[in-house]
Amino acid sequence: MFVEYNCILIREGEIFLKGKNRNQFEKQLLNNIKFKLKDHKYSINASRNRFYIESFDPSYTNIILEELKTVFGIHSISRCIKIESNLESIFSLCSVIMPANGSFRVSVKRADKSIKFTSVELAKEIGGRILQRNPNITVDLENFEYELNVDIRENGYTYLYFEKIPGGGGLPVGVSNRGLALLSGGIDSPVATIMMSKRGMKVDAIHYHSYPFTGELALQKVRDLCKVISKYNLGIKLYIVNFTEIQQEIYKACPKEFLITIMRRFMMRIAEKISLLNNLSCIITGESLGQVASQTIEGITSTDRVLSSLSVLRPLIAFDKTDTIELANKYNTFKLSILPYEDCCTVFLPENPSIHPNIFEVEKSELNLNLESLMQRAIETLVIEKY
Ligand code: ATP
Ligand code: MG
Repeated sequence: MFVEYNCILIREGEIFLKGKNRNQFEKQLLNNIKFKLKDHKYSINASRNRFYIESFDPSYTNIILEELKTVFGIHSISRCIKIESNLESIFSLCSVIMPANGSFRVSVKRADKSIKFTSVELAKEIGGRILQRNPNITVDLENFEYELNVDIRENGYTYLYFEKIPGGGGLPVGVSNRGLALLSGGIDSPVATIMMSKRGMKVDAIHYHSYPFTGELALQKVRDLCKVISKYNLGIKLYIVNFTEIQQEIYKACPKEFLITIMRRFMMRIAEKISLLNNLSCIITGESLGQVASQTIEGITSTDRVLSSLSVLRPLIAFDKTDTIELANKYNTFKLSILPYEDCCTVFLPENPSIHPNIFEVEKSELNLNLESLMQRAIETLVIEKY
C-alpha cells in the first residue's frame, strides 16, 4: 500500500528534563531544525515536547528525515499521516494503510478525552477493521512486523505512523558554551568533537600542520572531516596553524624523549590563546588513556600544566579504540580518518618517547626555547576557514 505522509513528528530528547531552562533549550532546538531545513519549504509547530513539520513537498520527505537525524536534541522522528480526529475516518484510513501481508499490532494513545472509547477499545476496533479488509494479515502483539501507532491528540488531530526513527539524542548545539577542539586527521579527535556537539556545545576546531613535511592532501583531509562534523555542529570554524618551525626548534634544542610532550604543550598554549581571543571556553582533545605514549596520566598532566585558565575535556578518555571506531562509523568520519596522509605528530615522532615524562625535566628542557616568539610566529600563520 502506498502511503503519503503529510507530517513529520519530532520528539524532543533530554530537553524535557531541563526544568526552568526548557524554553531556552526548545528555542535552540527549533532554531537548529530551521537551520538544517533552510533549503526546504515547510511549516513547523511546537506542542508539548514535540514539533510537527507540515506542508513540505512529499518528494523531499527522505531528504528532510536525513537532515533531522543529525540534529542533536531530537529523541526520535516519525513520518505520520495527520487527519482530523473523526473516528470513522481514522478506522477506515487505518485499514487502508496497513500492508496486506504479515503480522501487526495497533497501539493507541488517546490524549483527547472527548473521545468516549478507551485506548484499548479503539485498538480492538481498529484491529478488527484491518483484519476485515486484509484477510492475509494476522495480529501478533509480541512479534509483530508492523506496529500501527494511532496518536489521538488534544488538538483535534490524529497522527498515524509505523516507525520511530532514532534522532541524534543529546542536547541542541548552542546551549552549552563554545569550545575549541584539537583536530588531527585521525580517528579520535573528529569523534571527540562530535561528542561535544552532542552535549550542546558549539565547537570550533584547530589543526596544526607541518607543511612542507605534511602535504596538501593531509590538510584537505582535515577540511573534509570538518565538512562532516559541520553537519552535526551546524557549521564549524577551522583555525589552521603552521607548526613546522616549532617542531624543528624542539627537535634541535630538546631531548628527543620529550619531543612529543613539548610539542603537545605548544599545541595547548596556542589553542588557549586562540580560545581566549575568540570567546571559546574549553579545549577538547581525542585522547584516550594509555592509547599512545603521550596519553598517560603524566603525559596528560604535563600538557595541561601550560594552561592558565581553560580546562581540557577529553570525552574519549575511557574509550577503547573499538568503541571510538563504532562512533566514527556512525558519524561517517571513519572513512576519511583512515586515509593514509601523515599528521604533523607522525612526521617528527621520536623512537623512544618518554611514557612518564617528569614535569620538572620537561619544563627545564623548554628553557632552551624562546617560547613567546615561537608562539607568536606560529600564530601569525593562522588561517581561518568556515565549513
Ligand atoms: P587522533 O586519532 O585524534 O589523531 P591519536 O590517538 O592519534 O588521536 P595523538 O596523535 O597523540 O593521538 O593526538 C592526541 C590528540 O591531540 C588528538 O586526539 C587531537 O585532539 C590532538 N592532535 C594531534 N595531532 C593534532 C594536529 N595535527 N592538530 C590538532 N590537534 C592534534
Ligand atoms: Mg593522531
